[in-house]
Amino acid sequence: MGARQPYRKHVPQRTCVICRQKTDKRRLTRLVRTADGGVVVDPTGKRNGRGAYLCDRITCWDKVLGSAILDQLFGVQVSDEEKEAIAAYRPSAMGEA
Ligand SMILES: [Zn+2]
Repeated sequence: MGARQPYRKHVPQRTCVICRQKTDKRRLTRLVRTADGGVVVDPTGKRNGRGAYLCDRITCWDKVLGSAILDQLFGVQVSDEEKEAIAAYRPSAMGEA
């Protein structure tokens, strides 16, 4: 079936911290460093704190979850528990293009 039209309205673009590709903000997941030094997913995109965006490519998620990239990015030690909570938002393989 037909390709989706990429432009209908202006949608803010953000850059994925892993692949550096600009994507619609809606297709990105925002991670934010909380005031107490934790890193969580911010589904609303409105939380205060230093944020980083992750696109919906599984490879990007795997890199984030399987390495110390987040630790470097946010300057904190991301615990296994936090990574598990983040992993819950990982896109399923179904959506892979
Ligand atoms: Zn990416």
